Amino acid sequence: MPNKRTMATSPKKLHIKTFGCQMNAYDSERMAEVLQPAGYELTDEANDADLVILNTCHIREKAAEKVYSELGRVRLNKEARKAKGRDTLVAVAGCVAQAEGEEIIARAPVVDIVVGPQSLHRLADLVAEAQSTGKRSVETEFPAEDKFAALPVRADGKRHVSAFVTVQEGCDKFCTFCVVPYTRGAEYSREPAEIVAEVERLSARGVREVTLLGQNVNAYHGSGVDGGRWSLAQLLRKLAENPAIERLRFTTSHPHDMDDDLIALFGDEPKLMPYLHLPFQAGSDRILAAMNRKHTAADYEALIARIRDTRPDIALSTDIIVGFPGETDADFEETLSLTRRVRFAQAFSFKYSARPGTPAANLDGQVPDSVKKERLAVLQALLEESRRGFDQATVGRRMPVLFGGKGRKPGQITGRSPYLQAVHVEGPDTLIGHIAEVDISAAGPNSLTGVMKSGFEWREPVQAAV
Ligand code: SF4
Repeated sequence: MPNKRTMATSPKKLHIKTFGCQMNAYDSERMAEVLQPAGYELTDEANDADLVILNTCHIREKAAEKVYSELGRVRLNKEARKAKGRDTLVAVAGCVAQAEGEEIIARAPVVDIVVGPQSLHRLADLVAEAQSTGKRSVETEFPAEDKFAALPVRADGKRHVSAFVTVQEGCDKFCTFCVVPYTRGAEYSREPAEIVAEVERLSARGVREVTLLGQNVNAYHGSGVDGGRWSLAQLLRKLAENPAIERLRFTTSHPHDMDDDLIALFGDEPKLMPYLHLPFQAGSDRILAAMNRKHTAADYEALIARIRDTRPDIALSTDIIVGFPGETDADFEETLSLTRRVRFAQAFSFKYSARPGTPAANLDGQVPDSVKKERLAVLQALLEESRRGFDQATVGRRMPVLFGGKGRKPGQITGRSPYLQAVHVEGPDTLIGHIAEVDISAAGPNSLTGVMKSGFEWREPVQAAV
């Protein structure tokens, strides 16, 4: 579902509609920061915005068509504003912008700027150019300059308990169903010193939990100050030294890049939360080979066994595709069987849908939609049972919960368990931004309920200097 990024009014108003993943949400924040020096402030109201940006995602079915239909609504709004003598600039960013490029300019005259994910630091220049010349532009090259170095420092003054930090972009794996290697380009890792500094700034603003993001985050390989290559495990160890950061997470990982050091970290770094998102996509080796996944079902299970040896209580999450071209009932049964054996705490499952330009789009043996639907329903019922089983097993346990905000009911606050479950308790607002021990009393359909550890007395913690 799309979500809207918002901020106040003032000279020029900016509305960003974000589709897709956490990396897009991060990019939207950064685009707002890039445009802030040019006098743009975020607004919730698309109708009131001088600049509208659609930050698009290419992962879902018919992604491009959805963007064009959204642009139809934007066009009506632009025309209504024009009638009142007010101009509106329209930009399309994100993965659809990267994939469609000039095609967007040709098909949607309402669009002034098309900007790919690797070029968003050039947005202020593109906006200034569109305003002064009225020229429409497409910026989807993979520029030589380092996007992250060119982006302004994050400093929105807002207080969040948890933050995402992109540390890696792009992918060299070329799974045959996926557009990421084409839309986000080759694997690129940010420098560790830059990431450490960004996390220090975030922690000084009250952030206690950081999730490192990357399309293939565990392939991270930054150059350390010592000149050597830093792995994701080394980077996490360094970030754990920050006394104000209490929790670390990372996503999304590829099984092929789960090295020994990273697995060991789940056992010896208490700040690394026991939650791992590790897509396996299919349980049949024949389908995994056709997907170019570089692992077999047995490799995946052996990896899970090693991770569970290191951290027995770890919550595992995954992505699964059903109905990949050529998938038979027997192949699908292998997916169900692997799913039953691993017992996931969380999962994201999808029907295969062809992405133009990817190798799988041209494979023979496309599976009829009715079959995909049936298989997905069976798989999702199994995954739901597994998720509920995991949640139920936490009832009766005492867990540290990081509180991030008020609950829906008066007097209630809400937070996250180490396993990323939402937890609601009766408690004071002063706990927001902090961790407290909670006795889990019940598991609902989407969240847990608990009571504050008995005898718990709230005291303002000593803030670490950062
Ligand atoms: S590893 Fe992930 S991002 Fe890379 S090609 Fe495969 S599915 Fe896409």
